[in-house]
Amino acid sequence: MDDRHTLPHPLHVGRPNLGSRDRLMERLNGALDRLYLTDGPLVREFENELTGIAATRHCVAVCNATTGIQIAARASGIKGGDEVIVPAFTWVATPQALEWIGVVPVFCDADEETGNIDPAHAERLIGPRTRGILGVHVFGRPCPVDDLEELARRHGITLLFDAAHALGCTYRGRPVGGFGAAEVFSFHATKFVNSFEGGAIVTDDPELAERARAMRNFGIGPDGTVGSGGTNAKMNEGVAAMGLTSLEVMEDLMVTNREHHLRYRQGLAGIPGVSVRQQAPGERSNHQYLVIEVDAARAGIHRDELHAALTSRNVLSRRYFAPACHRVEPYLGDPARHAPLPLPRAEALSERVLALPTGTAVSETDVKAVCALIRELVPTDGGG
Ligand SMILES: *Cc1c(COP(=O)(O)O)cnc(C)c1O
Repeated sequence: MDDRHTLPHPLHVGRPNLGSRDRLMERLNGALDRLYLTDGPLVREFENELTGIAATRHCVAVCNATTGIQIAARASGIKGGDEVIVPAFTWVATPQALEWIGVVPVFCDADEETGNIDPAHAERLIGPRTRGILGVHVFGRPCPVDDLEELARRHGITLLFDAAHALGCTYRGRPVGGFGAAEVFSFHATKFVNSFEGGAIVTDDPELAERARAMRNFGIGPDGTVGSGGTNAKMNEGVAAMGLTSLEVMEDLMVTNREHHLRYRQGLAGIPGVSVRQQAPGERSNHQYLVIEVDAARAGIHRDELHAALTSRNVLSRRYFAPACHRVEPYLGDPARHAPLPLPRAEALSERVLALPTGTAVSETDVKAVCALIRELVPTDGGG
């Protein structure tokens, strides 16, 4: 094996981006000095910052986005036994969040260009038990929000968004966060803005926000009495300290990611069958994922072979998202309940996508080296 191009150190997808350690320690010390360790002033400050970024009236910080999706669904009146339409091409957390509260995720096919839920297919999936649609802004590219809002209105169902990929992104120039009944962000360590773990529900609906606030705290309402079902989904002060510190560098992180995106596009240009997935034209994007597609017929190498070859040379690429969600348990064994098959476009995408390292843990030199390596691994048939 020719290993001239093996990277000298492993490059990971989703290496955490860090803000200032000093600022983090200051905030943590403040929490310790106050003896206020959870759901306190730092969490309120984090929520305030997020309402600014999402341009929403309300924000309810929670322990992670998976629980946030469950609370957003419950606070919208979605109950066990209801069906909610979700994309098959997403991180498995999206359907798992619903399944775990007894809501049936019904898998919808994807639009191959955007990677997002296809509203026309979603409409065909609406039946008597459908109570909602949970769209995902896949890789930060916004869903067809207008079409989905119109569809939800026409059928009298709830529209929610899993915005785990889309903090700081826009749809028609408006920040993601304010669409549908509510949207949910994730601040997991691998997201470009992280709070170790964490999530937030953003909405303009004051009643939904109030129900969500109670539900994250055992159902305890503003008057201090238990008025609904609930769980413990509170965010703690240490998490909010990390989240606030990360938000301070959010703009810089977006610049770094965008520069890497441009470098990858340049570095991979002209390689047959390899393309960099694009963000929506004219919109702002966080570029938190750098995803290429490998068309095996044209590239002469399957995505899985490229993935294996890159991994063996220290480029720890990820097949993100593969398999599509309806191809894993508990959905695979019970397809009739979850998805009228086939879902050819979600499956085709899952066979082609490969996430490459980006973010602050990757240098310009690293990106060039990864591109050179891919160029070497994809066989050229003489004519190119
Ligand atoms: C990361 C992610 C989640 C889950 O977020 P957590 O905060 O880890 O629970 C949900 N949906 C998508 C699309 C994600 O990428």
